Amino acid sequence: MSAPRYWSAGWLTALRGQLTHWRLSGLEQRIVWPFLLLLLLVQGLSLMLVDRAVEQSATRAIDRDLVTGQRVFTRLLEQRAERLSEAAALLATDFGFRSAVNSRDVTTLSDALENHGRRIGAALVVYTDPAWRPVASTGLSVDRVAALLPVARMAGMAGGSTPAQTARLTLIEDRAYQIVAVPVKAPRTVGWVLMGFVLDRSVLLQLAAITDLRAAVLLQGAQPGVLMSTFVSEAQLLAPVPMGEAAACGRMLRESDGAWRSCEFVLDTGLAEVRGAPPLRLVLAQSVDEAVAPFHRLQLTLLLLTVVGVVVFAVGSAVTARRLVLPLRGLRRAAERLSRADYDTPVRVPDGRLVGDELVQLAQAFESTRQAVQQREHTIGRLAYWDTLTGLPNRAQFIDVLRARLQPDAAGTLAPLAVLMLDLDRFKHVNDVLGHPLGDRLLCEVAQRLSSGCAGADMVLARLSGDEFGLLMPSRGAAHTHAVAQALLAVLDAPMRLDDHTIDLSASLGIAFAPDHACEPEALLGLVEVAMYAAKQRQAGMLAYDTSMDNRSSASLSLLSELRQAIERQELRLYVQPKVDLKTGQVLGGEALVRWHHPQRGLVPPMEFIPFAEQTGFIRQITTWMLEAGVQALQQWQEAGLVLKLSINLSTRDLLDPELAQRVRSLLDRHRVSAARLCLEITESAIMDDPTRALQTLQKLHALGVRLSIDDFGTGYSSLAYLKRLPVDELKIDRSFVTNMARDLADARIVQSTIGLAHNLGLTVVAEGVETDKAWALLARLGCDEGQGYGIGRPMPQEEFFGWVRRWRAPEREALHVDTDFAQML
Ligand code: C2E
Ligand code: CA
Ligand code: CA
Repeated sequence: MSAPRYWSAGWLTALRGQLTHWRLSGLEQRIVWPFLLLLLLVQGLSLMLVDRAVEQSATRAIDRDLVTGQRVFTRLLEQRAERLSEAAALLATDFGFRSAVNSRDVTTLSDALENHGRRIGAALVVYTDPAWRPVASTGLSVDRVAALLPVARMAGMAGGSTPAQTARLTLIEDRAYQIVAVPVKAPRTVGWVLMGFVLDRSVLLQLAAITDLRAAVLLQGAQPGVLMSTFVSEAQLLAPVPMGEAAACGRMLRESDGAWRSCEFVLDTGLAEVRGAPPLRLVLAQSVDEAVAPFHRLQLTLLLLTVVGVVVFAVGSAVTARRLVLPLRGLRRAAERLSRADYDTPVRVPDGRLVGDELVQLAQAFESTRQAVQQREHTIGRLAYWDTLTGLPNRAQFIDVLRARLQPDAAGTLAPLAVLMLDLDRFKHVNDVLGHPLGDRLLCEVAQRLSSGCAGADMVLARLSGDEFGLLMPSRGAAHTHAVAQALLAVLDAPMRLDDHTIDLSASLGIAFAPDHACEPEALLGLVEVAMYAAKQRQAGMLAYDTSMDNRSSASLSLLSELRQAIERQELRLYVQPKVDLKTGQVLGGEALVRWHHPQRGLVPPMEFIPFAEQTGFIRQITTWMLEAGVQALQQWQEAGLVLKLSINLSTRDLLDPELAQRVRSLLDRHRVSAARLCLEITESAIMDDPTRALQTLQKLHALGVRLSIDDFGTGYSSLAYLKRLPVDELKIDRSFVTNMARDLADARIVQSTIGLAHNLGLTVVAEGVETDKAWALLARLGCDEGQGYGIGRPMPQEEFFGWVRRWRAPEREALHVDTDFAQML
């Protein structure tokens, strides 16, 4: 039972599929419908016009036929008149009749009239004397003839020269007669023979046999009536018709077999002037249906042609529309592919003979766009994965390849790998002395020598960063790897000649193995770096990784991935510690300090991850996050009408980033925050790591109008004299001096002299670690400008800073009491 249902369901689905396939899309509908409707309108109009024309010409044809019908009727009457005339003439010359006339023998006369009348079926034969007085008659008695046919009327019948002209229609006792009059001459006229037929349906039937017309003769006047007719319903004939001269056409008669159009003609009785005889009318009608039948067949053909035309047009225009729309869909799919960054599938260019040049050109434009993007993509890929200076793979590619090779095979085993990291010794020095252009050429030379030193097809040599190169190869045991490492170091032995310089280079090399040491690319790189630094420190040339080298336990490696997640999972918080004017107590702004809300460990203090982040370079991501959050906070303060500054900490790696200034600038622009509101704190040691590049970054930041501050001043080795060359605005005395100064005279003196010197250099002085009012008072006394510390306010979530500023009251003057003895010692 279920089989047919399945079958029908499948069939329905197939049909639905077909219908959906053929359903017109928006554009297709817009092409097909308007023209189809226009065509329907035009066809409808022309069909209407044809219909009207058919009606008009059918009417004209009917009217023509009716007039012809009237002539035929007249002709029939004429033929009858001739027959009457001949019979009457024969009678008039009949010997017996003439002798009866002479003898005035009425009986014989009557017999002769009777005989002749019967011969041609005349209904009335009368013989009158020359003065038209009836003498003998058949059909009617002589007296009645005299009464019904007055002399004058009978005399009027003798006027014409032809029998038709002689013949007259007349009414006798409500019957119509056609009568002729012939003289009886001997040789002068001795009497008249009148002979007549009754005009009855037979004439109309004869007419119908010839012409297919329906006819009636009407009696008009005071008592209208139908004398005879071939109509089915006669009553309608009696409705009055306004008549013109002789004919009136256009009345529609309703017969049981349809509509008939009629014309009415006055029948000349020729006797009207004699006595007010009621006129007779002839009604002729033709079937409208019959008249329009041939036209209808034509119209039907026309309609059929229209329907076929419309269907053909609809299908044709749908096909044409689809021809245009299909390539458009193809282009849309191509655009979608491009947006999905699929640049490999070529755009299909449609056949120009089917769709026209515009679409072809559009498709060609798409295709050339695709090729251009593919090309650019290729270039970008090259830039992203290749080092432009040496032409070697870069760090990103190295890590990718490393990750790929660290994938276990189908059997779950991992082919052992060796990773080597080589870092040039004292390269920074070379760079500083000889300049960067020569440094770059040196790196190229090194890259070339290293490439020639590792010829294996399955080895990947990459430049990982500045003067750091990496080599990845399948491990064939420690001894083999050591041999390769030796060979690598050996290629650098020969001195390098660049222009007139001869440079002796050496390098340190670290080795790590997978899976022995680690199986993660980043971890492996971290370990090989440790080994390389150990080699550098111990001046051992090369060293393979050993756990003893690494004081950064595996816990710190996992910390790195946790830190990465911290940003993704938004676990970092912006805390702000207030900074106040030490003379007026007014809040000037704050320092941005990062906090990590670790889901398990709770609030992690910065000292537990910032140094680590600085070591691993991850600090750059943290700085980016802090800058974003800090500038956003500045924007909020600005919108709330608070004129406050915010200080954000930078570290060495940030200063080495040549794009830092640009990034800060677009951040400020994006949040519409003035650069003067932002202060960046840099430690002396951060600057001293690579003073040239750090100075470049500082100058760019200074040019933006951002304030720069030297953090933790006093803990490093730099002299104030060196600071003179830096574009800084502010100096922060390290809290280790400040917290103790109220007790420790030496610290107080350092603070005092630092303030004096800084002021001489035009720098603002900030004291951090202000824990007590006493310290505040002393610092104010020494002329320190600003203060920051637990005594003023602890770091707080950024959102709370707002309320703190509102509630903040500076300590009373008396509270800021300075120990005079102590002060005098300074
Ligand atoms: P810092 O830049 O010297 O920041 C000042 C530190 O001193 C803060 O510690 C602050 O809480 C603390 N401090 C403030 N007033 C007092 C006081 O009166 N007494 C004492 N004993 N300490 C006070 P925190 O927040 O633990 O930060 C420690 C260090 O972590 C910072 O030292 C800074 O070097 C680094 N750091 C914090 N946030 C960031 C950041 O977003 N980026 C970078 N690069 N480093 C940061
Ligand atoms: Ca700081
Ligand atoms: Ca500090």
